[in-house]
Amino acid sequence: MIRLGYAVLIDTHCHLDPQYFPLGPDEAIERAREVGVVGFVVIGVGVDLAPARSAVTLAKRMPGRAGAAVGVHPHDAATLDDTAYAELAELSADPAVVAIGEIGLDYHYDHSPRDVQRQTFARLVGLARERNKPIVVHTRSAPADTLAILTAEGARDVGGVIHCFSEDRAFAEKALDLGFYLSFSGIVTFKASRSIQDVASWAPLGRILVETDSPYLAPIPKRGRPNEPAYVVHTARRVAELRGMAFEALAEATTLNAERAFNGRLRSLANAPDTFEGDGFHPLARAAQTP
Ligand SMILES: [Zn+2]
Ligand SMILES: [Zn+2]
Repeated sequence: MIRLGYAVLIDTHCHLDPQYFPLGPDEAIERAREVGVVGFVVIGVGVDLAPARSAVTLAKRMPGRAGAAVGVHPHDAATLDDTAYAELAELSADPAVVAIGEIGLDYHYDHSPRDVQRQTFARLVGLARERNKPIVVHTRSAPADTLAILTAEGARDVGGVIHCFSEDRAFAEKALDLGFYLSFSGIVTFKASRSIQDVASWAPLGRILVETDSPYLAPIPKRGRPNEPAYVVHTARRVAELRGMAFEALAEATTLNAERAFNGRLRSLANAPDTFEGDGFHPLARAAQTP
């Protein structure tokens, strides 16, 4: 059932901090709104808590439309000493924080030692359980250890999102069994991404999300440019195509999924205007016409 006269999308994973958007995120957010991208999960991670604080500030400016995820990226896992943990724990209690993330394991880059990555990941799953908030998982070249930690630390109790899904069907099945959502990024639009496209084509409609991971990994036809939330339209369009379904239905399903995945703290559909004030064009159709 399409509830609105037009489709809306939530970008479930974007980095909008000043290091990527030196002039601030407002223009990118406006460009997103113009094409129907009305919800944002803003990820705040870095070598210190500055990006997390800026994500929370941004989320507070757009209540119901934006939520912050705060955590420690596996690249920076070694920075989580007791002081940093205490500060992060305090910040994570803020109602504008909708998830703990992104957290996880990255054995491709190995920017932090693997044992430290595992410790930090486990500790932050514990924080999410304490806060009763879902987690946003980054996993690269570490499928077995990621699943082992999610299982051992009881991540099922809070659930969450496997962000920028880039694993195979076997991993997807196990993540779904643990109650996780699978979030597809611009990678799904790349020709070589066969196994990711395969997962996008069969994963249960009620368990998939779309994201940009801005400023990285812009989807085709924006590939090579800095990514921004408006471009999530292209990713959603490709996922709809892979599933052989109408774009509007995919947009609505993923938006409802995102609202559910983040425990109802994002309310984009409820907050969206009944009609799109503009030139009468379906906003997302207009985006597709001007690649
Ligand atoms: Zn990531
Ligand atoms: Zn990210």
